[in-house]
Amino acid sequence: MITGKNYIGQTGSSAGKQQLISFNPATRATHGEVFTTATTDEVSQAITLATKAYKAYRQKSAASRAEFLRTIAENIMALDMELVNRAMAETGLPEARIKGERGRTCNQLKSFAAILEEGSWVNARIDTAIPDRSPAPKPDLRKMDMAVGPVAVFGASNFPLAYSTAGGDTASALASGCPVIVKGHESHLGTNDLVTQAILNAAEATNMPDGVFSMVNGGIAVGQQLVKDEGVKAVGFTGSLAGGRALMDSAAQRKTPIPVYAEMGSTNPILFFPEKLQEQTEELAETLASSVTLGVGQFCTSPGLLIGIKSPALDKFKSVLAEKLRQSPSGVMLNEGIGQSYVKNANRVQTTASVEGSELIETAGKPASVSVSATSFINNPTLHHEVFGPFTIIIECDDKNQMLAAVKAIDGQLTGSFMATTQDMESNADIIDALRERVGRIICNGVPTGVEVCPSMQHGGPYPASSNGRYTSVGRDAITRFTRPVAFQSWPNQQLPDELKDENPKGIWRLVNDQWTQSGIE
Ligand code: NAP
Repeated sequence: MITGKNYIGQTGSSAGKQQLISFNPATRATHGEVFTTATTDEVSQAITLATKAYKAYRQKSAASRAEFLRTIAENIMALDMELVNRAMAETGLPEARIKGERGRTCNQLKSFAAILEEGSWVNARIDTAIPDRSPAPKPDLRKMDMAVGPVAVFGASNFPLAYSTAGGDTASALASGCPVIVKGHESHLGTNDLVTQAILNAAEATNMPDGVFSMVNGGIAVGQQLVKDEGVKAVGFTGSLAGGRALMDSAAQRKTPIPVYAEMGSTNPILFFPEKLQEQTEELAETLASSVTLGVGQFCTSPGLLIGIKSPALDKFKSVLAEKLRQSPSGVMLNEGIGQSYVKNANRVQTTASVEGSELIETAGKPASVSVSATSFINNPTLHHEVFGPFTIIIECDDKNQMLAAVKAIDGQLTGSFMATTQDMESNADIIDALRERVGRIICNGVPTGVEVCPSMQHGGPYPASSNGRYTSVGRDAITRFTRPVAFQSWPNQQLPDELKDENPKGIWRLVNDQWTQSGIE
């Protein structure tokens, strides 16, 4: 049952007076419950409790943390259609998408449980002592990744399940041994409430310390308090560049600055090389129309820039794509604010000098494409910003050199793609390399939408796509965002963490004296 409360650990609380309302973006109807913005005191209590819980939680065995994560997944599934219906009603996303996202959320939780049980995620390195080394003896040194402490997670508007309350940031932080305080996204308050209870019930059932998970609702003030409080040790965020940058700046100004792992969107450029475009003009236009409109364009990987060299094939591609988008209906956008921003930002592009396009967009979620010369694109940075929604800009280059210049004008991105034959790849290696320099994931003959959750996925790119392109928010390595390496020098074997003991009781992979091994040390 949806309670409308904030949760300070296991305790529901609604001390505040400021109310929040849950809306259905399709009908604009409100849902019945009243939610309240967390007060300053409530936020402080959640952080204090998380700090207390941290010591007990990080000492829980990997097996019990894994059981906790799996129980969360079971509880989410047990919510069944109550959760699916509520998420649909709060986001306008269809049932298949919500169910798919729910599956992804549970799989992420289960995959971090498996990673914990396997154990090698701690990145253990051991260099044994050489007491008689000359001129100075070498000490025994052993290093592993360890939890950093309480983590604040900002739920994402565009992933009500997979990147919100029990999403990838929460799953990876909990796996690493960090308590989590979620700031629920105002777009899906009821969904957040249900998932919070699923997590708290799992925490109780698996004997996790109170405070391992808290959830607070609220706006910018609540978010800022979380990031500025010295008790919070890292932040996970998905949203706008403005929001992510504000949080990065606040975190940097603290007495003790902390990392903010912000994933802030992307225009996901796609290059169309001549031979490939000539061979598959219509097919590519159809593929792109599907990718641009997928999820009403509300994916961080939605393709927002399409770059090609002027030719009859590019003209044909443009007109087929424009027609396909014109025929596509307006989709329901995640909330009113996102819908209004879409109309405003798409029309800002449409009305920029030398941009050619369709008529102005009047309805939120109406797909469209426009085109512009590479020179105008390069000289006009306002065209470089993400238009969040089903909108894409085609950049027309005079030649290869101009294509290279257009790529070089682009900021850091989550993804970059190119459509090319083998011959195209060989003759455009410099352009492809310039694209690779700017992205976290580079895709050959494919679209960027669809982010596989697996160890080799990189979902994070150079700034401003992410706050730190070194890290990923998707896949196994997401856990390293909430850890830091600690080296133990000259410690007695029995006092070391199990992962670093001579006998390797967990049988994990370790780099011992420069050799990968699962064996113990004789
Ligand atoms: P957002 O405005 O960045 O907000 C995300 C979360 O951060 C919300 O909980 C928000 O609180 C909080 N927040 C924002 N600015 C803050 C600040 N200065 N200090 C503290 N907390 C702050 O993103 P959104 O609500 O998801 O959507 C707005 C726009 O973000 C979209 O139109 C789109 O352009 C972009 N977006 C991009 C992606 C992507 O992956 N590419 C995903 C989602 C959104 P409030 O709810 O109170 O504002």
